[in-house]
Amino acid sequence: MITARTRRELRSLLIGATGDGERVGFVPTMGALHEGHLRLVDTVRGSCDVVVMSIFVNPLQFGPNEDFKKYPRDLERDSVMASDRGVDILFAPNDEEMYSAKPLVTVSVGDIGERWEGKTRPGHFDGVATVVAKLFNIVRPDVVAFGQKDLQQVGVVRALIQDLNFPIEMLVMPTVREPDGLALSSRNRYLDETQRKDALVLSRALDTMAILFKGGTTNGEMLVTAGKRVFSDVPAAELDYLAVVDPRTFVQKSQVESGDAIIVAAKVGSTRLIDNLIL
Ligand code: AMP
Repeated sequence: MITARTRRELRSLLIGATGDGERVGFVPTMGALHEGHLRLVDTVRGSCDVVVMSIFVNPLQFGPNEDFKKYPRDLERDSVMASDRGVDILFAPNDEEMYSAKPLVTVSVGDIGERWEGKTRPGHFDGVATVVAKLFNIVRPDVVAFGQKDLQQVGVVRALIQDLNFPIEMLVMPTVREPDGLALSSRNRYLDETQRKDALVLSRALDTMAILFKGGTTNGEMLVTAGKRVFSDVPAAELDYLAVVDPRTFVQKSQVESGDAIIVAAKVGSTRLIDNLIL
C-alpha cells in the first residue's frame, strides 16, 4: 500500500492505473477503522483493479459543539489495517490540503439533508456532500462503497451522484454489528462498560419494531410507540428521533411498507449513536 498525503501525489499514482483502463474503487472514511470500513474495501475489491481509501476527518461536517477535536485519529494503526485488507492507495490529506482557503462554493443539500440527522446537526449534510464531491473529483473513481449504517448519508450521496451527474457506480453495504447487535462505530470507543450495555437499546428498539411489522402492524405511529417503549426501560439513553421513513426521501411514513426504513438516534452519556433497519 502506498500512502499519498497530497492531491498531486494521489493523481500521479492513479494516472498509470486509469490510463490502462483499470477500474478504480473508492472507500471514503474518517479513519478509526473497524470491520465495517474493511467490508467496504472487500466490496470494491471484488469489482475493481485499484482500491483507494481516504482517511480525512472533515471539519465541514461537524457542528461547533460536536466531537471534531476529540474524534479518534490514529493513522499508523489505520494504515496497517487498510494495508492488511488490500487497500492499494491510502489518501490521507491534512485540513490544509483539502481546504487551503475557506471555500467560496459548497454543495447545498435540499430537504433530504434537513430532516432527522440534519435537523439535529444543521449543515452536517452540506459538509458531507461538499467533501464527498471534492473527493470524487480528486480520486475520480468508477465505483464507491458506503455503509448502510449511515443511511441518510447514503440517501444524500445517492442524490449527489444522480443530481450532479457524477459518472460513478455506488455500492451500499449492510451494517456490520457486534455479536450482541450493536452497530460498529468509531464512536463506540467513547462508551464505558455501562454505557456500552445501554447502547444496545437502539438495536433492541429496531428489532422490536421489525418483529411487530412482520406480525402485521403497518401503522407507523404504533410501531414508533412500541420502539419508544423499549427506550423507556433505559433512562440513560436520551432518544433524539425514532421514525419509519421512505429510505430515499426520508419523509416519515404513516402506512409502512416493506423496504421502508426505521431510523434512530440517541445519546448515551455524551456519545451520540445512530442505527437503522430496512423492513
Ligand atoms: P466514517 O468513517 O464513520 O465516516 O464511515 C466511513 C464509511 O464506513 C461510511 O460509508 C459508513 O457508512 C461506513 N460504516 C461505518 N460504520 C459501519 C458499519 N458498522 N457497517 C458498515 N459500514 C459502516
